[in-house]
Amino acid sequence: MSDAVREAQEFLATHWSPSIDANEWRELVVDQRWAALRWPSRWYGRDLTDEQATEVEAVFAAAGAPGPGQDVVNLWAGTLVTSCQDPLKEQFVRALLLDQVAMCLLYSEPGAGSDLAGIRTNAVRDGDEWIINGQKVWTSGARNADYGMLIARTDWDQPKHRGISFFWFPMRQAGVEVRPLRQATGDARFNEVFITDARVLDTHRLGELNGGWWVLQTALAYERIAMGGSRRGAGGAGATRGATAAAHGEIPTPDISLQRLARAVGKADDPTIRQSLMHLYCMRLVNEWNGARAAAAAKTGTSSPLASLGKLAMAELLHYAGHLQGMLLGMEGLLDGNQNPRARDANYSQLNAYFYSIGGGTDQIQRNIIGERILGLPKEPEVDRAIPFREVKASS
Ligand SMILES: Cc1cc2nc3c(=O)[nH]c(=O)nc-3n(C[C@H](O)[C@H](O)[C@H](O)COP(=O)(O)OP(=O)(O)OC[C@H]3O[C@@H](n4cnc5c(N)ncnc54)[C@H](O)[C@@H]3O)c2cc1C
Repeated sequence: MSDAVREAQEFLATHWSPSIDANEWRELVVDQRWAALRWPSRWYGRDLTDEQATEVEAVFAAAGAPGPGQDVVNLWAGTLVTSCQDPLKEQFVRALLLDQVAMCLLYSEPGAGSDLAGIRTNAVRDGDEWIINGQKVWTSGARNADYGMLIARTDWDQPKHRGISFFWFPMRQAGVEVRPLRQATGDARFNEVFITDARVLDTHRLGELNGGWWVLQTALAYERIAMGGSRRGAGGAGATRGATAAAHGEIPTPDISLQRLARAVGKADDPTIRQSLMHLYCMRLVNEWNGARAAAAAKTGTSSPLASLGKLAMAELLHYAGHLQGMLLGMEGLLDGNQNPRARDANYSQLNAYFYSIGGGTDQIQRNIIGERILGLPKEPEVDRAIPFREVKASS
């Protein structure tokens, strides 16, 4: 038994109780450095290897104690820990681990989604600050956000990937206007964000000037690992709350909830249903293994194409589960609304599966990444890759 496992057992024996106040427990876990085991001790971690960390996470899970796993799924704190100067980390990492800062992702624009290197939001230096102008769209959680992770163009004479910088951008200021957008599910969680002469300090820049693309790759890998559901069991709901995927609800275990539904509608003995449930269970299990592989490969500070495999698989799994939920309900699935919660949930699941197919990079983009970076297929032709961005034709 490793020292870390022994210490974890002692910690749990001394402090853990299912009736402990959730906030008190969360603070204990963070301050005693159990929340982000693979990170440096300076940043609330224990410098554990992935194997050691996984053992400790299993000890917490066996006790039913939430908390660890934030080093894998907390994309905000993870991006800070790997990409910025100490003062910014000192200001934010603990608060992010305690879920005390509301965040959003300011990446997509009306003319740049899949091709994020085509962003046109402009950043101009003004003394110690940058002045930002542009429009973002599909920004989940922007209405309540304190800060956003913003990509903006800082040099229009460089090729598209090289003139971008990455900022920790304060949302609560004049010049930031947020307008909600209604989704197919009826939710309005994402928004348009109009930015007019808003300001951000240069000390809130992550990574090198014009090197934001590489910070973005780290942040995207965190998002895809979280959306792939690789470590959903590791830290419980608390650990995943900071990530975008989890901002849309806990990553589901559809095979388990569908087993219950199959019993409730009297179809648990139907061989076709049983086979479908088993198929779903296998998909989830294989995806969890893949997720563990992706998380181990990603470590801190690098992106892994394996995260794309997990995210794509999670999207397929949720479409399959939504379809099966509809099949189980049969005609009842045609009903909807609060009087028919089972049908409402089934319809929601089927529509919400598209969130996983689009948010964080579409299924097609994940397939491109898998093709190019895992299978070694030739890269897609990109005619505008090497020319100064100011000469690239706008797509909208
Ligand atoms: C629920 C939800 C939440 C979101 N939250 C956020 C957020 O918080 N912050 C944020 O910045 N963005 C967010 N997004 C935006 C999301 O990242 C983009 O919608 C996504 O990257 C696709 O970009 P697009 O909508 O501009 O589509 P486009 O890039 O215009 O793509 C249109 C279609 O063309 C396909 N396509 C494009 N390029 C290629 C290619 N090279 N090869 C093959 N097919 C291609 C796409 O797969 C897609 O089917 C969210 C989206 C959703 C649905």
